[in-house]
Amino acid sequence: MQELEPLRNTFIQEIIDADRAAGRYGGRVHTRFPPEPNGYLHIGHARAICVDFGLAMLNGGLCNLRFDDTNPTKEDEEYVQSIIEDVKWLGFDWGDRLYYASDYFEQLYEYAVQLIKKGKAYVCDLSPEEIREYRGTLTEPGKESPYRNRSVEENLDLFRRMRAGEFPEGSRTLRAKIDMASPNLNMRDPVIYRIQKVRHHRTGDEWCIYPMYDFAHPLSDAIEGITHSLCTLEFEDHRPLYDWFLEALEIKDPPKQIEFARLELTHVITSKRRLRRLVDEGHVRGWDDPRMPTLAGLRRRGYTPKAIRTFVAEAGVSKTNSKIEYARLEHYVRQDLNATAPRVMAVLHPLRVVITNYPEGQVETFEVENNPEDPSAGTRPVPFSREIYIERDDFMEDPPKKFFRLAPGREVRLKGAYYITCQEVIKDPETGEIVELRCTYDPESRGGWTTDGRKVRGTLHWVSAAHAVKAEVRLYDHLFLTEDPEEGGDFMANLNPNSLVVLPECLIEPSVANASAGDRFQFLRHGYFCVDPDSTPEKLVFNRTVTLKDTWAKIQSKES
Ligand code: ATP
Ligand code: MG
Repeated sequence: MQELEPLRNTFIQEIIDADRAAGRYGGRVHTRFPPEPNGYLHIGHARAICVDFGLAMLNGGLCNLRFDDTNPTKEDEEYVQSIIEDVKWLGFDWGDRLYYASDYFEQLYEYAVQLIKKGKAYVCDLSPEEIREYRGTLTEPGKESPYRNRSVEENLDLFRRMRAGEFPEGSRTLRAKIDMASPNLNMRDPVIYRIQKVRHHRTGDEWCIYPMYDFAHPLSDAIEGITHSLCTLEFEDHRPLYDWFLEALEIKDPPKQIEFARLELTHVITSKRRLRRLVDEGHVRGWDDPRMPTLAGLRRRGYTPKAIRTFVAEAGVSKTNSKIEYARLEHYVRQDLNATAPRVMAVLHPLRVVITNYPEGQVETFEVENNPEDPSAGTRPVPFSREIYIERDDFMEDPPKKFFRLAPGREVRLKGAYYITCQEVIKDPETGEIVELRCTYDPESRGGWTTDGRKVRGTLHWVSAAHAVKAEVRLYDHLFLTEDPEEGGDFMANLNPNSLVVLPECLIEPSVANASAGDRFQFLRHGYFCVDPDSTPEKLVFNRTVTLKDTWAKIQSKES
């Protein structure tokens, strides 16, 4: 994966280099990607995935996929499966190292017992509200729990009975005994186990106490022998707590946590909780709606794994949060598709054209190049006949000066076919709407050029009426109208009511007839499109991945 090379220039690589030079971890590099299975992965996660897997690859190391599934109320097997699929699709391989924090529940319980035995954890009978009250604030120290000084024996007994299900939910917790006056709130005797009489998607009814994320996470890393525990900045304040657990439990060669900034894009929300709301309230068709910034949505939209990897690696990794222009992501998918997507002609708003001097029943076939960027992609046959369709926008009855397409009396080139001249405009007598054009063609212009050097200013795409394939085309715009979806305080108020436009009656040249879901094309002059799984044998459905206009490339070239 050549495109990941820029990750070598990150501050994380510097830390890895220094650790290796000092002989830490015996020179090993072992990372993990640790999603919580409570939603689908989004474009932000792509940064974590590329950094975790990418840095392991670039350093000859290993990366695990581990589900941090410690919160049974929000988690679901559907999410586990989608995450597995998405990480694979992005191109990464965890070998046989697919793990679940829930696999470690017994060992984590043992760790908790050890903490109790060391006098570093206690069972607390305060209610959740009281715990919050006792916790203090950023400016005021907390208050010690009256249960803080229970004996080791009593704590061991109560914790065992918590596990046995003897106490109701919310009645007791196990807390680490650290420092209620710490300026870091995470260190004020955090809860490490709570009672939850809830079925877990993997362990079933085996447990009724569950470890908190902050306890399970660093210890799961330790159990897996992780060397560099990479995560986002919001966990910086949790690091002292993680280090406290690792030290209290005398873990040898403990993992080193390194934090980096989250990836955020303009017009995009990257919070599973908010994305779930969009799905649950029906603002999108599902987690994989092509407007969603989820990896499943981007895949359905037509994004390639390589484009996403390139985007992430080129954006780099830093210690400060910032927003990236959405146009930049689009730039990389265009770059990739420009090199690989076969070109076809598709008419999105069809206008019928009858070529009056072309023999009825005659069909000619033109060979048209598949990709001007890649001659090895070859050509394809495109049939031509007396009745064709062109784009409605490509004709104007009364054109302004700079309009170089078709107009009454004007000659244009049909891409790869002939020159035609518009002779007559047919309108609906009732509505006045233009329903058909009558044109003539010049038989001397076969293939789209003439020997007399006569020039035309416009080249139009077209499809033969008798041969065209019917299709539905879905055009997309940002889900949110504002660059910052949170602007004004309520992201729901910024939803774009026109983020999806469906064109049910498009016509496409027959070379796409056998396309299947996931196939990608460039529709000449319209952009890049991908076949949607909603397609049926009767009707293909296409999603527009991105238009052809590259605003990001323009910004870049101005800057350089
Ligand atoms: P969200 O806030 O979207 O719900 P999360 O942080 O709760 O995301 P996790 O499943 O816990 O999601 O994330 C797995 C890993 O991905 C973590 O290491 C987290 O730091 C990282 N991650 C999550 N969001 C981003 C982002 N926007 N940019 C980079 N990394 C991210
Ligand atoms: Mg999280």
